[in-house]
Amino acid sequence: MNLLLVVAAALIDADGRVLIARRPEGKQLAGLWEFPGGKVAPGERPEAALIRELSEELGIEVEEPCLAPLTFASYAYPDFHLLMPLYICRRWKGFVTAREHQALKWVFARDMRAYPMPPADAPLIPALIDLLG
Ligand code: C5P
Repeated sequence: MNLLLVVAAALIDADGRVLIARRPEGKQLAGLWEFPGGKVAPGERPEAALIRELSEELGIEVEEPCLAPLTFASYAYPDFHLLMPLYICRRWKGFVTAREHQALKWVFARDMRAYPMPPADAPLIPALIDLLG
C-alpha cells in the first residue's frame, strides 16, 4: 500500500484554544474539520513542509523553533496509509485567514469531538486534551 506523509499543526492561542479548519467542498473528506497542514514533497523536510503549508493555507509565518512535535497519526485509508506527525505551535506572525479552507475555528481540545474530523485526525485529540486540559 502507498505511504503518504502529511504534516499537521495544532496552533494554540493565548486562551489555550486550538485551530481547526474545515476542508473545502470538492476535495476528499469535504466538510470535515482537520488540523491544518499538508503533504510533504519528495526531498522536503517535514518541518519545512509544515511551514510552507501554514503559509499557503493560513497566510501565517512560522519559525522552525516554534514547532514542537506532539504525537502522530497512523491511519490506513482504503487506498493509502497515512502517516501524519502533529506539531504544536504557539507563536506565529500574521493573522490566520482561510485561504483554502471553507472555515476556521478556535476550539478547546475538550470540545473538539463536537466537530466531525477525518478518521486520521480524531485520534490525536486525547494528546491535546492531556496537554491543554
Ligand atoms: O489535504 P490533502 O487532500 O492534500 O491531503 C491528502 C489526504 O490526506 C486527504 O485526502 C486525507 O485523506 C488525508 N488527510 C487527513 N487529515 C489531514 C490532512 C490530510 O486525513 N489533516
